[in-house]
Amino acid sequence: MQKRSIILYWLLIFIPTVIIGMVAFRLIYHEQERINRLAVDAISDRAKSISETLLLTVEAVQEELIRSLLSISDDRLQDTLLEWSETNPLVRNVFIWDEKAGLIYPVSGVASTSEERYFASRFDGLFSGRVSWSSGKPDSSDIHKDLGRRGTFQDISQMNRGKRELLNIAQSSRSIGLESSDTMEEGITTGGWMPWFAENRLYIIGWVSKRKGGPVHGVELELMTLLSGLISNFPETSSDEPCYALVDDSGALLHQSGDMKIDRDIKPILRVSLEPFLPHWSIAVYTNQGKTGAAGNGFMITALLLLFVFIAAIAAGGFLLMKNARQNMIDAQQKTSFVSNVSHELKTPLTSIRMFAELLLDDRVKDQEKRHKYLQIMVAETRRLTRLVNNVLDFSRLEQGKKRYQIEEINGCELIREISEIHTPRIKEAGMEVILNIPDEAIIIRADRDALEQVILNLIDNAIKYAGDGKEISISMKMGTKNCEIGVEDRGPGVPESHRKKIFEKFHRVDNSLTAKTQGSGLGLSIARRMLRDMGGDLDYEPRAGGGSSFVVSIPLK
Ligand code: ADP
Repeated sequence: MQKRSIILYWLLIFIPTVIIGMVAFRLIYHEQERINRLAVDAISDRAKSISETLLLTVEAVQEELIRSLLSISDDRLQDTLLEWSETNPLVRNVFIWDEKAGLIYPVSGVASTSEERYFASRFDGLFSGRVSWSSGKPDSSDIHKDLGRRGTFQDISQMNRGKRELLNIAQSSRSIGLESSDTMEEGITTGGWMPWFAENRLYIIGWVSKRKGGPVHGVELELMTLLSGLISNFPETSSDEPCYALVDDSGALLHQSGDMKIDRDIKPILRVSLEPFLPHWSIAVYTNQGKTGAAGNGFMITALLLLFVFIAAIAAGGFLLMKNARQNMIDAQQKTSFVSNVSHELKTPLTSIRMFAELLLDDRVKDQEKRHKYLQIMVAETRRLTRLVNNVLDFSRLEQGKKRYQIEEINGCELIREISEIHTPRIKEAGMEVILNIPDEAIIIRADRDALEQVILNLIDNAIKYAGDGKEISISMKMGTKNCEIGVEDRGPGVPESHRKKIFEKFHRVDNSLTAKTQGSGLGLSIARRMLRDMGGDLDYEPRAGGGSSFVVSIPLK
């Protein structure tokens, strides 16, 4: 019944703990997922805002260049463009093209530089007329309207440094070859920017035509200059923040925020395209934690750790409570059997004392020898009773920590001889013989005389009780390095291996049943060991060579 209720209590703690643990784990898992999602969203928003800033910058620069291209007067067109290509870092190449005459500038042949020849061949599709100019994106068939809408680009004081510098460069060419804006015919003017891929690299060409079917002139954008302006739009990030990188069409890293080392095989957690102004270019975001996002699993680890501590605390508390309950149960059982054992122990000598006392009282025993023998039995039984009561009293004193010792220097050999002399008649009466093996010279020990005597007496009593058939008790004494060893040995059945440690526990008896051959309280050895340990010594059991028990008392030397 008791055991069942312990299991029930255990289950009452265990099942809710497991359920709480599982539910908490699910909640933590979902919360971590939500945090990761939020982190990825925040990263994605930041990447989008960087890309928007870059695109707006490119768009503004392109618009400014188109304005500048439109503002060049027809009669100074070639000179102005040439001057641009030399002075404006945003301009890589300039060109003038006519539908009928083809490429007017740069001229083909030796008059042009190798860069100009390469430029002409790069854009051969456009210059040969195979690709129409208006296919350029973004489509700006009416750029006057478009430019008007974007008046804010003029307010360059609001822009960041990189963008401002780029726009200054783009505008710087406007003063050269300027034509009054009213000469431009609205609705007829066309122009735009066209991303162009040659040998898998991005080039950007901008063009304008003031008259339908008229000559087209324009510039090729110097991407390096554009890039140097764009990278100032990048945020400064610390090492534990995600890294934002500008990646070109070939996958090369042009610029990155922070100083994270990005290997070629690391995959970005997300990419934001820079279409339409910089096709195939993108903002890529890298994190140290790989794919889970910038927040990592910090929350999950901390929460799981706390959950683990919580469950471990409940489990440990529950385990200790159960252990305690079990121990209490064992103690209660042992106390019950102790009480019945002690009662039985008291009853046996009392019965025989009473029986012999009544015989003597009624004067029914006439034989003097018999009377003497009965009186001897009564004395022996009273001694047994005294020993038992002393044991119980000692036990309660030891349990309460009230036992006091009077440590003194004693000649151990003398003490053991005295004890054996006093008890030899009793031992002999039990049909056993005493073998003494004690050195002649004195061995001075430090002990409480009465306590040590009680220990030896207990061991002798046990030998009589449990090993009477062995017919001998051997008491020996020898000197160790720090301790003196007193051995009390018999030729009885010995203590079974599984009980050898337990016999020193309180109330433990090898045979605990009331029907046991010999009765006892299970206190003798536990009290003996505790008293010896209190005095700085110890008590151990070892099986005796050749059969029997060997109890070894060790006690400190002087
Ligand atoms: P008690 O003798 O009152 O039962 P003890 O603490 O003195 O209590 O002994 C504990 C147990 O150790 C005994 O019940 C007995 O089974 C075993 N024991 C003690 N001494 C001997 C011995 N000399 N030979 C065999 N068994 C012994």
